Parts: sequence; structure tokens; C-alpha cells
Amino acid sequence: MKMMPEEIMQYIVAETKKRDGIFGAAVVLGGEIVAFGTNRIFEEQDPSAHGEVVAIRKAAKKLGVVFPKGTVLYTTCQSCPMCVATAIWAGIEKIYYSASCEDNHKAGLSDRHVYAYLRGDEDPDVLEQEQILPKLAKTELLAIPRPRMYNY
Ligand SMILES: [Zn+2]
Repeated sequence: MKMMPEEIMQYIVAETKKRDGIFGAAVVLGGEIVAFGTNRIFEEQDPSAHGEVVAIRKAAKKLGVVFPKGTVLYTTCQSCPMCVATAIWAGIEKIYYSASCEDNHKAGLSDRHVYAYLRGDEDPDVLEQEQILPKLAKTELLAIPRPRMYNY
């Protein structure tokens, strides 16, 4: 059933609430919902199981393609950096959100530290990164010819 953006947002908010969730998301193609997901981090013991990632994974499987063309992501709350990155990797063309990151922060569910880390504004002790054996993967893995996966 083809729906308008506001109808889709109302639907995913209602579905998320019905499932006793906070965060829900849907991948939409041509105004129709392909896949819906809610935050499943505690149920799955998976810190990456945000609603957006769950919906994108389901959509890719349902559509049978890793990078479905023409898809749009709807999410009840503005996406965290991981979900934005996942949407970019999936080739999602646009994200519609209802509550903002600021609303999320005020509700005690902030992702400010992740955005700050990625901007380089926060203490690097949040996550340490160190390159080791820099030539190993470069020569053993990256040198193997493969089909081009991305157009970036
Ligand atoms: Zn997220």
C-alpha cells in the first residue's frame, strides 16, 4: 500500500509503541514499506541492532540485493552515526526522522559521545585505535583484484 511520508511516520511510531519499543524504523521503496525494525539490542544481545540497522538488514534480504536502489529510511528518532553510516553503505537516498538527536539526549538516550568522537572533539579514551602491521592486510588482502563494489 503506497503511503505519504507523514502516514509512514505515523505507522512506524504506532508499530514501535505497539511493540513496547522506543526506536523504530522502516525502509520504504516507492511509498511502500519494504521492512520494519525496532531496536533489538537487549533482546539480541547485539549493540548494533538499532531499529534502522534491523530494518535495513531485513530490506536487503527481502529485496535480494545488498544495495537496493531508490530506498528511503524512516526512523522514529534521528539516526546515530552507525545508522547513518549503514544507510550510506546501503545506498539509502534519504532519511526521514521524527524526534531529533537533541530530543533523544533530553530523554537520556544520547549519542552525543559518538558524534563528538567522530568529529575528534572528545577525549580519545572513548575508543583507542592503533594501526599494527600496516602492510599485512594491504599486501595479503587489498592487493587481490575484486569487482568494484561501490561508486564512491
Ligand atoms: Zn543507530
